[in-house]
Amino acid sequence: MSATVIRNGRVIDPANKRDEVLDLAMVDGKIAEKSQIKGQKSEVETVDAKGLIVAPGLIDMHVHLREPGFSHKETIESGARAAAAGGFTTIVCMPNTSPAADNPSTIAWIKDHAAETARVNVLPTGAISKNLAGEELASIGSLAEAGVVAITDDGHCIQNHELMRRAVEYARMVGLPVLDHCQDYNLVGNGVVNEGYWSTLLGLPGWPAAGEEAIVMRNILLANLCDHSIHCQHVSAAGSVRLIREARARGIKISGEVCPHHIALTDEAIQNFDTNYKMNPPLRSQLDVDAILEGIADRTLSILASDHAPHAGFEKEVEFDAAPFGIVGLETELALFLDLLVHKHGKIDIVRLIEMYTVEPAKLLKLDAGTLSVGAKADVTLIDPGLEWTVKIDKFESASRNSPFDGWKLRGRAVRTIVAGETVWQL
Ligand SMILES: [Zn+2]
Repeated sequence: MSATVIRNGRVIDPANKRDEVLDLAMVDGKIAEKSQIKGQKSEVETVDAKGLIVAPGLIDMHVHLREPGFSHKETIESGARAAAAGGFTTIVCMPNTSPAADNPSTIAWIKDHAAETARVNVLPTGAISKNLAGEELASIGSLAEAGVVAITDDGHCIQNHELMRRAVEYARMVGLPVLDHCQDYNLVGNGVVNEGYWSTLLGLPGWPAAGEEAIVMRNILLANLCDHSIHCQHVSAAGSVRLIREARARGIKISGEVCPHHIALTDEAIQNFDTNYKMNPPLRSQLDVDAILEGIADRTLSILASDHAPHAGFEKEVEFDAAPFGIVGLETELALFLDLLVHKHGKIDIVRLIEMYTVEPAKLLKLDAGTLSVGAKADVTLIDPGLEWTVKIDKFESASRNSPFDGWKLRGRAVRTIVAGETVWQL
């Protein structure tokens, strides 16, 4: 029997509407009553959490772990270490691997490999279409049986609305939410940055906001038609926020997530042609940033995630047009959101921030996680909300370094990450 008590922390457990200073007990990997510790003969480990927030283990539902196929960018092991260092006890990985996670044997490989090497919980998603090609549906029933938590073609987007409709109907039958990377290929073309002032000035092909909004609208129509959940990944445009807000008010099962770069930066940052500012969807205008902040404040956008997208240095160190999209995010996202949403703009309080990283993704993906209820798995994140620190990419646990936030001074971060009662990372 192993037992730990986290003493004197501010326990924020939105699932149980709890926010108070108290001791949290863990016995044999589960959250326990304090009385269960009392008769304890073996040693009880004590963690002093004075001045810290004790939160349910955070969940990042949008992560690229790159295995199988691209282990020079990241491995499941290194990605899980980066997650632990960022305060995440559960991460949901995207299916754009090689081979693509569009079949049960690749899902089994990911799960086995994660069980052997990852120190946090790794939950795979399955592809919607075979090889993410958008032409033929993957076997969604077999993916559900193999244990995926959702289906998505992230990195790609199904253009054929009828095919997407059938995917949503199958997903409803097997009880899986559908996640979508919203990008209309015809409108976006070869766009690499937000279409607007900076794309014109710099002569870079534009990726118009309408290319996202058109697919968000399609997803609203299909969520309504099929009466099933569709979640819009990495929402970047003001119009998308308006569409989702109006649809949610009508009770449609549509949701949206926000990545930190889409509120920390605007497309003005691309003027130095640094490829660490190239992501998909792209950095947008200040008007879009303001709309996303309002969407977070009024609960239109309910989930926070990183879109952690590691790439090797040699891949990013090419001309802007040719570089791959995406940045690493696991080790900076909590601090960026704390600093921007809570400290700087005051859009939400820290309780809501924790809820957006725990209760909300757990509800959408029907996970047995995100709570400190007695008997729940003892996944816990200790956060120092005011700790000032400087991002140093050479200190990252991730195998990649493609972050635009090197040198940024931030306030707040995770200081200890506990999975099933075991500390897997500590500052
Ligand atoms: Zn994506």
